[in-house]
Amino acid sequence: MTTAEVDVLIVGAGPAGLMLSLWLSRLGVTTRIVDKRTGKVFSGQADGFQLRTLEMLDSFGIGERIWKEANHMIEVVFWNPDPKGVIRRSSRVPDVIPGLSRFSQVVLHQGRMEQFFLDAIRKSYYGSDPSEGTPEGKSDPFAASKHIKIERCVIPTKLEVDESLSGNHDAHAVTVTLRHLTEAEATPTQKLSNLSDGLFRSNLAEDDVEDILKTSGSRMDKTGDASEEVVKARYVVGCDGAHSWTRTALGPDFAMVGEMTDFIWGVLDIVPITDFPDIRNRCMVHSESSGSMMVIPRENKLVRLYIQLTEVNAEGKSKRVDRSKITPDTILKAAQKILSPYKLEYHYCDWWTAYQIGQRVGRHFSKDNRVFLTGDAVHTHSPKAGQGMNVSMQDTFNLGWKLGLVCKGILRPELLSTYELERKQIAEELIAFDHKFSRLFSGRPAKDILDETGVSMEEFTKAFTLSHMFTTGVGINYQPSLLVAKEGEDSKVAAKKATSQPKLAKSCQPGTRFPSAKVLSQADGRPWELHHKMSSDGRFRMVVFGGDISSSNHLSNTNAMGEFLRTKLLPKYGSVKLSPGSDPHTCASKFKTAKDPSIIDVLLVHAAPRDKIEMLTDLDEVYHRFDEKLGWDYDRVFVDDISYHEGHGRAYEAYGVDICKGAVVLVRPDGYVGLVTELSEDGQKEVEKWFDGVLRPVA
Ligand code: FAD
Repeated sequence: MTTAEVDVLIVGAGPAGLMLSLWLSRLGVTTRIVDKRTGKVFSGQADGFQLRTLEMLDSFGIGERIWKEANHMIEVVFWNPDPKGVIRRSSRVPDVIPGLSRFSQVVLHQGRMEQFFLDAIRKSYYGSDPSEGTPEGKSDPFAASKHIKIERCVIPTKLEVDESLSGNHDAHAVTVTLRHLTEAEATPTQKLSNLSDGLFRSNLAEDDVEDILKTSGSRMDKTGDASEEVVKARYVVGCDGAHSWTRTALGPDFAMVGEMTDFIWGVLDIVPITDFPDIRNRCMVHSESSGSMMVIPRENKLVRLYIQLTEVNAEGKSKRVDRSKITPDTILKAAQKILSPYKLEYHYCDWWTAYQIGQRVGRHFSKDNRVFLTGDAVHTHSPKAGQGMNVSMQDTFNLGWKLGLVCKGILRPELLSTYELERKQIAEELIAFDHKFSRLFSGRPAKDILDETGVSMEEFTKAFTLSHMFTTGVGINYQPSLLVAKEGEDSKVAAKKATSQPKLAKSCQPGTRFPSAKVLSQADGRPWELHHKMSSDGRFRMVVFGGDISSSNHLSNTNAMGEFLRTKLLPKYGSVKLSPGSDPHTCASKFKTAKDPSIIDVLLVHAAPRDKIEMLTDLDEVYHRFDEKLGWDYDRVFVDDISYHEGHGRAYEAYGVDICKGAVVLVRPDGYVGLVTELSEDGQKEVEKWFDGVLRPVA
């Protein structure tokens, strides 16, 4: 049996596993990712992309591909029974509150997004640098470098954590045995031969890992085929979905807690033939007594229907459903009843599945900060609110940079515990939200205010609208930790740990995502979304809001902060090697700089008129650093001023910063605010304290 060493081993290449691979490929960390299936998802499964997810994907350069190909959700229409029991359009609301993000919610099937991930992962590498030339005898400059590749038809069979090594983060403390499968062993049985069905992934189906292990085990006995290997990893991440093998391997302490409901839902992805007038809008339809349905218009004339199956029951103590009773025809018939008197038929069905609503969350998200659980492996709930894939990717978006920077010796390893602190809270909020939303959506509409067992349709519409901050992902607010300095923490902690003054930047609360606003480049007047200058490349951003720096007082504070950063802070923490593709919005990454850039990236946003400032002579050099190969950096100074073609971004207003006071906002590599402080010497001390708790100084 062979033995290999790797920094990170990822089990499962669904949305969570791919997001993690992308981070680690951008950070150049040696990583392996294995999946039991022969290929990625090709149709069906998740399709809704929330605003925050699009912002995250955009920071990797994938957002625009999704934005262009996807169908955009603009409006939600509510259909409810009238006094005679006939469904009628009762109201229309915007799909999400306008102005929360530069994106709106879109839908595109999971398989396309997985393809975009794979393309982006291929652009990065670890090992030797392809720009240094083509290896002899090879035409491909990437031949000597290594991309992270998905190793398919592979399952883990054994996992052990060496607890004696738990304090040593350089040690390969986790040992995993991997078994390589044949294609036949890794291919799930389809329920119907001529249609893609998703039942094998649904929670109505048992997991097939046990069966796979038995079949492949007997092959190994017969053939003596030594297709097993041992991998020693510094970290292992279970991204292996709701039936997670990794979670089970960690033992009963890691079991999920929660409940399974009686509600059974079917899903059809079809090109509908119908006279229902709102079929190209997102609709919530509650019928009087035939259940509820959600309509999601998709790309390529497809429409997804989520249909409550009132005639299929969960039976017995285990509340399990006989899934042989569910076919596309059963689901269509249920939909036709709900939509009656409107007609619904189809010729083309792209995919279908059925599931039972269950709401569960894992007790622990990590074992000793060496093995982590993410995505559906630690939280499952109803798919209708379009959260699962989004929250799963957000889990690994949170974990990826932390793990990557620890592997590179930059981040303090103890910070890995913030993964569970931050993401378990979100998973619990998600389950609470789903509990409420699912019952409101699956319940029978109340006939009148005296009908206590029915659901009030006004209450449903109100709950839907109020939930936007949560469902869009924009309302996430992480708890205080070394990575999130909030205001007014107790004085003992505050003496060692930085504290924020959030009033200085009212829309940049510590723990929430730093929003984007449009600003102009000082150098050439081009309008930019500030997020486009904050790509996911593993660096921390110090956004210095200098205020109106045409006043000498503000200019001198801005330059004092600049000098502190240049002479004290940046040299203390050193630089980071950026991978190709790390700046998806400019071609800057094509050119090799003389020195690797600092792990702390400084951006200045000022509010003086653009033509009153001379970048090279008025400002400290930290804001336009010199590179002996590339000259001055013109890409770090921005102005809150009117543009020639795209109006005024009003960035100071959007960030809630007073132009007479200014502020410093420290943004983590995942775009969440870590600290808000002032542009004074006290502010410098808070910044220093914050980084002391987070980064390892260079030797
Ligand atoms: P998965 O997507 O389940 O990926 C797990 C991966 O691990 C798979 O590739 C699997 O092959 C692999 N794997 C499993 N076990 C092993 C093993 N032992 N060894 C090796 N590999 C293994 N979410 C949304 O956000 N928006 C939506 O609109 C939405 N719609 C949905 C509609 C339906 C009908 C369903 C069923 C789900 C929907 N979801 C939606 C939920 C979403 O699909 C999941 O939450 C999401 O896929 C979870 O991602 P994941 O990476 O954690 O797990």
